[in-house]
Amino acid sequence: MKCSQCKNNAIVFLPYSSKHLCEQHFIRMFDKRFRKTIRLFSMLRKGDRIAVGLSGGKDSCVLLHSLHQLQKDLPFEMIAITIDEGIKGYRAKTLDIAKKQCEILGIEHRVFTFKEVAGKTLDQIEKDDEDKLPCSFCGVIRRYMLNKGAREVGANKLAIGHNLDDVAQTVLMNIMRNEPARLARFNEPIVSDKKFIPRIKPLMLTPEKENAIYAMMKGIELERVECPYAHFAFRSHVRKMLNESEERYPGTKFKIVNSFLEIEDALRNKYGKTASELGVCPTCGEASSKGICMFCKMIS
Ligand code: SF4
Repeated sequence: MKCSQCKNNAIVFLPYSSKHLCEQHFIRMFDKRFRKTIRLFSMLRKGDRIAVGLSGGKDSCVLLHSLHQLQKDLPFEMIAITIDEGIKGYRAKTLDIAKKQCEILGIEHRVFTFKEVAGKTLDQIEKDDEDKLPCSFCGVIRRYMLNKGAREVGANKLAIGHNLDDVAQTVLMNIMRNEPARLARFNEPIVSDKKFIPRIKPLMLTPEKENAIYAMMKGIELERVECPYAHFAFRSHVRKMLNESEERYPGTKFKIVNSFLEIEDALRNKYGKTASELGVCPTCGEASSKGICMFCKMIS
């Protein structure tokens, strides 16, 4: 099959747009979409200091490389931060990749551990409270630590590797759990606040599969290791469901995310508290939407 843009052999088929692309045109399309997403949501400005949440998985590594490439045209500073949850047989491998990628690109890298901030590794937390799903602890603590870590390294924005699949999953999960108020806060406007570091998601319109293809084409090291707790997650059920829908009805993930973007202003008007309206947790002094924050509640 030939590339839809030139006479070279195609190596990728994108069912949602019925396009076949060769390596050169796939990379070009990918880079163009990355930059367009940043422009569309005004994610970056000259002089920004960006903390990149680098787990060492394919999405965050691709994010790091693409932002590094963008630095040639837009002057901004970048530092990578990794949260080590303390998950045996999983985090050490991806942490190793994260370190190597930062060395290759010459990017400063800081690691923050659950143990030092929450007093325990995720494995210990899971052992202590087997009734609770590890992901519910992990999500809250990681979010808290990423925000705190980004502030500690002097960043004014936090870039995370959420891709189109992640965003579509989050939208569906919030709907299935009947949590429209949470959905309203999901895509926070980029407002700086002393406590809350705004998050940007430059890959939010890029399908997960395409991140993997891009990583392979660019020679970015990938570790196919999955978190041992992943099967507990509600997200994993929604991921499976969405992948089946995408297979039968290509473009489903884009449609879900686009529908969310259409209604997010209305949702925010009804339920949302923006970062500038957030209060402060009386226990730890971090940003909180109401009283004691989730992190302190979990730790106590
Ligand atoms: Fe944390 Fe759950 Fe993700 Fe594992 S699958 S890293 S426990 S949120």
